[in-house]
Amino acid sequence: MIQLAFYGAAGEVTGSCYVLSTDRAQVMVDMGMFQGEKDADEKNRRLPAVELGKLDAVVLTHAHLDHCGRLPLLVQHGYRGRIHCTAATADVAEIILRDSAYLQKEDYERALRHRGNHKRQKNHGASNHKQSRNNIQERNRSDREAPLYTEQEVERLLPHFSPLGYGQTAAIAEGISITLFDAGHILGASSVRMTIQDGERTMNVVFSGDVGPVGAPILRDPRTPAPADVLLLESTYGDRDHRSLDATRDELLAILKQAEASHGNVIIPAFAVGRTQDIVFHIGEFIRAGKLDPTPVIIDSPMAVSVTQLYARHTQVYDERAVELLHQQMKPLSFPGVRFTHSVEESKGLNDVKGGQVIVSANGMCTGGRILHHLRHNLPDPNAHVVIVGYQGNGTLGRRLVDGAKFVSIFGNDIKVRAKTHTLGGFSAHAGQTGLANWVEPLQSSNPRLFLTHGEDGPRRELANVLQKRYALSATFPQYGNIATL
Ligand SMILES: [Zn+2]
Repeated sequence: MIQLAFYGAAGEVTGSCYVLSTDRAQVMVDMGMFQGEKDADEKNRRLPAVELGKLDAVVLTHAHLDHCGRLPLLVQHGYRGRIHCTAATADVAEIILRDSAYLQKEDYERALRHRGNHKRQKNHGASNHKQSRNNIQERNRSDREAPLYTEQEVERLLPHFSPLGYGQTAAIAEGISITLFDAGHILGASSVRMTIQDGERTMNVVFSGDVGPVGAPILRDPRTPAPADVLLLESTYGDRDHRSLDATRDELLAILKQAEASHGNVIIPAFAVGRTQDIVFHIGEFIRAGKLDPTPVIIDSPMAVSVTQLYARHTQVYDERAVELLHQQMKPLSFPGVRFTHSVEESKGLNDVKGGQVIVSANGMCTGGRILHHLRHNLPDPNAHVVIVGYQGNGTLGRRLVDGAKFVSIFGNDIKVRAKTHTLGGFSAHAGQTGLANWVEPLQSSNPRLFLTHGEDGPRRELANVLQKRYALSATFPQYGNIATL
């Protein structure tokens, strides 16, 4: 009997985690972090109903935190096996997980300090009984917010990564092998075909992972692993199409030319993994094509600098255009004018330059990081431009700028917004509805049993309608903890 259990990204977009069991083996695909929602912390502490230490193998589709963020819990629970993924994914995951452990520690220490102050004030004059009740509440709360894992546990996890190239097949457990396919989503991302021998029968289970758009920079376009008897398909943007990449690129070029003419700075808040490199690549292409004069482009985020270096190391994942550049002795992410900052001083020094530079910095939603300094210095300048190139969550500074705020608060100062803010919608790392439907096309003839995951209920319903109409496939909407017999 083959069973598939859903322990995350079931009716939501974070916490990816699936466990496939046969009579002979049990393997996990992804162990991501739940993010964003109020109950995320609670969900992150609830473990899948399997013995983590006894899993036979783990597969990782890609290194976004919502796919890899809880992997260190495996070593915490005695897991000794391998984690199969591309070499690039292993490298990106190392950066992401170290950062995650560090941020969790920072958050926890800050919470403890805050609580310490709070408690001193509160306990002043309280009865003993009240005091001990307060202490219990405090302790429960701090248990809940303690880091999920330490930097040392991340360190112990790293030797478990076992690299596998796209198109290569590896036997990962008794009766189970996998093949990885380009997903075109972020550096190293893959879709996975898992082939299971169960007595006389052979079954192909395809995990889409996160599917990227066609035509994204540097990475090859997504490839559909066919055939499939069972398909788990992501549905993040199952209800809409993004603005076209061509139109978005033209908008970016027009903004850069405006800034050139008015000699203003261009500030681009961007996620360190993927979006930063996409933007830098596009600017490089403008300059290489003679559409834009060479201009200083500064990548100012330690994580983005590290990830950009990984792009130079993993040329085996490049698409045709990126390979062509390599043959011309050009690296896709380095051209005259590109510069990385290496220290906080260097980063702050950028604020002395009043115009004529493009600064790509993190974090992507402007909730922290070096981008805040750049916004503080440039928002009051009417010649400056702020270009929003990614999703901005509710309540973030990035969202306030998108919504046209006249004043924003940064480091406790009221800052008047006189710079022009532009929102560009076409740089998504996810395929939209049409892209997802096209991706399924090669699987139509195998008529797979379809599970829609990694999407909220609205988007997955709408995607299901499209797939029903186009391919007569009917979809199931798994919930957390559901177990399907295949
Ligand atoms: Zn992703």
